[in-house]
Amino acid sequence: MGKTWNIAVIPGDGIGPEVIAEGIKVLNRIAELDGSFRFDFTYFPWGCEYYLKHGKMMDDDGLEKLRGFDAIYLGAVGFPGVPDHISLWDLLLKIRKGFEQYVNLRPIKLLAGAPCPLKDVAREQIDMLVIRENTEGEYAGAGDWLFRGKPEEVVLQTGVFSRKGTERIIRYAYETARKTGRSLTSISKGNALNYSMVFWDQIFAEIGREYPDVKTSSYLVDAASMFFVKQPERFEIVVTSNLFGDILTDLGAAIAGGLGLAAGANLNPERIYPSMFEPVHGSAPDIAGKGIANPLAAIWSASQMLEFFGYSEWADRVLQSIEQVMVEGSALTPDMGGASTTQEVGTRVAYQLSELV
Ligand code: ATP
Ligand code: MG
Repeated sequence: MGKTWNIAVIPGDGIGPEVIAEGIKVLNRIAELDGSFRFDFTYFPWGCEYYLKHGKMMDDDGLEKLRGFDAIYLGAVGFPGVPDHISLWDLLLKIRKGFEQYVNLRPIKLLAGAPCPLKDVAREQIDMLVIRENTEGEYAGAGDWLFRGKPEEVVLQTGVFSRKGTERIIRYAYETARKTGRSLTSISKGNALNYSMVFWDQIFAEIGREYPDVKTSSYLVDAASMFFVKQPERFEIVVTSNLFGDILTDLGAAIAGGLGLAAGANLNPERIYPSMFEPVHGSAPDIAGKGIANPLAAIWSASQMLEFFGYSEWADRVLQSIEQVMVEGSALTPDMGGASTTQEVGTRVAYQLSELV
């Protein structure tokens, strides 16, 4: 019978369910080909539709319900009619924070066959892994709204950088750099953010003393944004704060094939709580229900799940399949210049897997 991996699936809103179905198709195909493990998927109908009916994005005991799973596979949440800050805070951030998924891993790698808007950049020069702090920082939710509506109105949004939170993300990044033999870049803004980012830089240097074998560099976020576009080969492993990571990885997605191809993993590295795998893109209401969403980001996120479970070979094979499909150009969704449906792309990637075995 072998091992069973229990996965909680939250398809979510908009194109979420459409792309998640294709990721599951690929995961099931892999289990079939391997034969030593299987997946058991349990669906949770949470998201904005649920909110409109029940007044909440997920059940009050949602975290307890998810707690026992090996992983969470999430499509996207957010839809017109539900304020973005509600859909974000009441589900996504609740899970990320509640399960201490403090590592957000976002590969920015230009796969063979993927479209790239940059000229004069060789394909292999775009190959980095952004490690984004995922539970505090600028998205800690701390602040105040004073004298609302009065002339002296003031709004405060406070970044929260705890020693524990900052050390653990930076340590994770050093470990990753050491394990992979790649250089590590810290992206911050110590010149303008004179408390939080000075502290960040200090901890980056402090922990660095334990990793003399890791080659490091530090960039201000503004300069880094320019170099992401001009000389992306400068970056291998990147560690950065919640807000900067959010912005930089959308920029990264743009240079590495678009949002339809950008994968993400929210990890609790200690494995005390389940980790969550989700494409970087949102619910894309403009194309929802049309069957043309690109499922490759969701499929790549599923590959990150395989990696996290220890099936590195299968994780690589998923990426190879994606590359094959893109190079052939036989099944591509409109965002990549093709005319195929979401399902056709998923089926093609799943089929390609058996070709590679
Ligand atoms: P949300 O509020 O849920 O984040 P959004 O309106 O910000 O939704 P995104 O999902 O972030 O929309 O998408 C931004 C743009 O990228 C949209 O035009 C969308 O159609 C496109 N896009 C995003 N994901 C995909 C995908 N998987 N395939 C094709 N196009 C996509
Ligand atoms: Mg969005």
